[in-house]
Amino acid sequence: MARQLDTSTQEALLARVRFYRDLGLTEFYRRPVDPTLLAQLAAMPETAGAPGLASETREANTQQTVGAPSIRPLLGEWVGSHESQPETPPSPFFQEDAPIPPRKPIQAPPQVAAAVPPAERAAALQLIRDEIGDCTRCALHKGRNKLVFGDGDPAARLLFVGEGPGADEDAQGLPFVGKAGQLLNNMISAMGLRREQVYIANVVKCRPPGNRTPEPEEGNTCSPFLFRQIDVIRPQVIVALGATAATYLLGLRQPLAGLRGRVHAWRGAQLIVTYHPAYLLRDPRQKKEAWVDLQIAMKELGLKPPAKG
Ligand code: URA
Repeated sequence: MARQLDTSTQEALLARVRFYRDLGLTEFYRRPVDPTLLAQLAAMPETAGAPGLASETREANTQQTVGAPSIRPLLGEWVGSHESQPETPPSPFFQEDAPIPPRKPIQAPPQVAAAVPPAERAAALQLIRDEIGDCTRCALHKGRNKLVFGDGDPAARLLFVGEGPGADEDAQGLPFVGKAGQLLNNMISAMGLRREQVYIANVVKCRPPGNRTPEPEEGNTCSPFLFRQIDVIRPQVIVALGATAATYLLGLRQPLAGLRGRVHAWRGAQLIVTYHPAYLLRDPRQKKEAWVDLQIAMKELGLKPPAKG
């Protein structure tokens, strides 16, 4: 019998999964439970009540001294009492025996398009925007207020790519204008640049519900427009902010840790992968590491950090 997790546990679990994703850990495995262990559990007598950990342990020790297996008391309430609870329909997400669907592939980036002269780049970007129109190509349009195309200098030497708009971006139609955007602005200033000198875009142009990671269908549908924007802008350096940007730009899933700290030759540009500012807000200790990545970008661009004071 599958047990339904309550909403707050599901949310905590999803937050943890997001946290692992930000660390670049995107693969999880479910281990089958040993059937002999399950049989042992089924054969054991119920323990009374739902004791706290200390008493559970004490009980476990007592049972061990009389030769009974010790696992059931340690599992306590989880195993002991749920059989008597009213059945709730299992969430499809957490269904015990549901097959794990195969991972959906991320599309390889398309061929690089012909170069556009700098003076014509703003108009070329507008053509892409016009083609996107009032987009309904994927499900994300259903929750959209404003489509977030991208913003900045159409001939920028440095381009940042994030994951997708959040609530503030969806309200304003501009990328990185919320709290993560303030941190990105600080990162740009620390590099000695102004926000208007760079270009900022996302893998998807509409806000995923609850700021979840875009589904492969959504990312694969929307990212070709990002590639076309990049081909028009022709930045010398691209900074991928977080695992989603790195995955769609490079066309493969890899842990962030293995991609950071170096230059990837990518479609004629130098691609550098670093942490997403939203992750840095959650774990500011990683800002030092992000600064190492940004310094690599600065070196490629021939930039020196601005003098303090
Ligand atoms: N996070 C992103 O990835 N992009 C934005 O535009 C804002 C927050």
